[in-house]
Amino acid sequence: MSMKKHDAHRPFHVRTLAVHGGQTPDEATGAIAPPIVTTSSYSYGDFDNGVDRFTGEKPGFLYSRFANPTVAVFEAKMAALEGGEAAVGFASGMAAISSTLLALLSAGDDIVTVGTLYGGTQGVIGSLLPRLGIQSNQVSRIEDLAAAMTPCTQVVYVETPANPVLGIVDLAETARIAHEFGAIVVADNTFATPCLTQPLALGVDIVVHSATKFISGHGDATGGIAVGTADAMRKVRQAGMMQLGSCLSPHDASMLIRGLKTMPLRVEASSASAQRIAEFLDGHDAISAVHYPGLPGHPGHDVAARQMSAFGGILSLEMKGGRSAARSFLDALTLVTQAVSVGDTDSLACHPATTTHSAVPTDIRKKSGVTDGLVRLSVGIEFADDLLDDIQQALTQI
Ligand code: PLP
Repeated sequence: MSMKKHDAHRPFHVRTLAVHGGQTPDEATGAIAPPIVTTSSYSYGDFDNGVDRFTGEKPGFLYSRFANPTVAVFEAKMAALEGGEAAVGFASGMAAISSTLLALLSAGDDIVTVGTLYGGTQGVIGSLLPRLGIQSNQVSRIEDLAAAMTPCTQVVYVETPANPVLGIVDLAETARIAHEFGAIVVADNTFATPCLTQPLALGVDIVVHSATKFISGHGDATGGIAVGTADAMRKVRQAGMMQLGSCLSPHDASMLIRGLKTMPLRVEASSASAQRIAEFLDGHDAISAVHYPGLPGHPGHDVAARQMSAFGGILSLEMKGGRSAARSFLDALTLVTQAVSVGDTDSLACHPATTTHSAVPTDIRKKSGVTDGLVRLSVGIEFADDLLDDIQQALTQI
């Protein structure tokens, strides 16, 4: 899937790639928005063509669990935005993460993680993979990564900024260490999006996303994506997505393609408001800590300033009054909606310890900074002053 020609001596800006990357008007109809192709299978005409397509001798669609034209446009757009050779679309972020890891790892291998992870990912790596004979070793700091690597380590897995305490992992340094030990790096780029960080350019091998978040952007579609080299994506598609059946539906792919077109504008607006809100909350009487990489006091600020072009739309706050203060604050918000998920047009807030991270064992949860007083805020694209007014009034009600 190609895109419009570009003759200038510089690469396209992310805003241009988000609109045009990976797509041209539909050849058959001229439709600018890619048609939603709902077929489950595709005629290959005659016997020999069928043989050629199934052996890969000839290109062509066969069955929508393997590949679908609408999904292919979404995959091509994401490959263009992340700077990868190819991409594979999935039914959700968890489908992307679990299918990618299951495609890459076998019994006897191990995986090392650096820093905090989304609760669902923590479940796959900390509990599902060990049940299949794939051991995981989790370190909090990159300084401890080399010591955690073994001859069986095939994958180093990171998430940056990490859900929900916005920990920052140095991607270039992670790739350097992992490659020295012959392992590859898989990075979850959901919070940063390719608008703010391009992990592949920093040496990461495979990028995964929950496309349900900033990529969709409107809270109305569920999806995931993996991006990397053509070889790696062939493996992820065949040994992961096709076998597990974790394919993206063409309806959701169409919504995600539409979401991508405005993603850079939305991410820019959310990041600017999140920075303002973080600065306002930092030092507030009711709050003991604000976790936002855009604050100079954040432990990952310097690395984030190097590998991100802005600091993103998500922050979390540590309420001095613990769980009961978090509860009063959240219940007092009127414009900000209490819900999980992030990256929507609408601002959303939640209490990770009892929602997104409730299934994570308490010791790991607390060690990762997901305390009982932690509140996560995903800043939408509303006018920042209106959000600040809502947050301010809710804080007075604790
Ligand atoms: N990765 C991160 C960083 C997330 O925050 C989430 C969900 O919140 C996921 C992956 C899982 O994505 P999904 O809910 O689309 O399966």
